[in-house]
Amino acid sequence: MSDSTLFSSECPTCKQERLLTGYTREELAELLRAGADIEAYCSSCEEHWPISTEERADLARELGRKR
Ligand SMILES: [Zn+2]
Repeated sequence: MSDSTLFSSECPTCKQERLLTGYTREELAELLRAGADIEAYCSSCEEHWPISTEERADLARELGRKR
């Protein structure tokens, strides 16, 4: 059983879907609850950005479903 989540966010620079890595599901759930920014990273652009409100909603659904 893996504790990582496969959630992607679109890079604002190159418009490619980049996987959200480096967070455990617990950390993501905690950040969502706290209303804190969740940052995604693109290794091609070396760019960080906070995921959108819409993506947060998708993520919350995703985390809820796999409980
Ligand atoms: Zn990019």
